[in-house]
Amino acid sequence: MIYLVFINKEGKFNENTWLIDGNLFGGKGNLSIYVIENNGIRIMIDTSEKATVPKIIEKLKEFKIYPIHKIFLTHSHFDHVDGVHELQKLMRDTKIEILASENAIENLKNPDNMNEVFAAKMEPIKDVIPLKDNEIIDLNGLELKVLNFFGHTMDCIALFDKKHKNIFTGDAIIDKSSIYYFQPTFMPPDFHEAELIKTFQRLRNMKDELTSISLAHYGVWTDEDFNQIINNMESLHFATKDSIIKWYKENPSYNYLALKFHETFTPKSKIIKYGNIGYLERQMEFFVDSLKRSGFI
Ligand SMILES: [Zn+2]
Repeated sequence: MIYLVFINKEGKFNENTWLIDGNLFGGKGNLSIYVIENNGIRIMIDTSEKATVPKIIEKLKEFKIYPIHKIFLTHSHFDHVDGVHELQKLMRDTKIEILASENAIENLKNPDNMNEVFAAKMEPIKDVIPLKDNEIIDLNGLELKVLNFFGHTMDCIALFDKKHKNIFTGDAIIDKSSIYYFQPTFMPPDFHEAELIKTFQRLRNMKDELTSISLAHYGVWTDEDFNQIINNMESLHFATKDSIIKWYKENPSYNYLALKFHETFTPKSKIIKYGNIGYLERQMEFFVDSLKRSGFI
């Protein structure tokens, strides 16, 4: 019997939490949406992009977790928040509360900067309820704790479900979408390394209270896989950052960087075989942009 420690299948994965594929950019396994339900109240974590919201609504109905009452935004990047208006529109009989870090309020209200960086067309999101570090969201008796997990952006927050020993970290820690593919978390426009290192330490300090980590990109990593992420996240950050800086000095072509990244860090991944070199090149462009903005290049 194979003991499954990576949960990437849509559906219910603990007593009251579901995973739904956000179908970001039309692909499977690119972005997870989570829904936690307790005593009839449901909170959704992140939204994916506007275009995929009808599919998400279908899944909510299929899993009998429709409608949603609260949306928790892990940070203000496009792929996590773009679906807000469409979700509100398609669930218009329900008043949905939007929650985000107090640091995200301005970015959500004025997305011009984010739109420029990511060539996106996000519309302003207003009336967001600001969350502070260590604040508790009480989901009809289930306590969910908000934790500032800055670094990837300066408005990243995690949600800690103590009862189920699970933490939702958005993009704050790592992207890991299969056992063979991962990517680091330094992204424009606000990557802040000192804050990221603090976030790594904060997560390590909580290790005994957790058995799983739920990533935005992608899925729920448990047991040995969870331990591996905790043990390797910081060294993988530095290894990828240092390599990208070095390769960029050798040859500042995103194709070169993508091929080097693939051969060095994810050689068994099928990402290039599936014709996704363009995707990887775009990621390299973002990494370099964030390293330039934060003064490393
Ligand atoms: Zn992000």
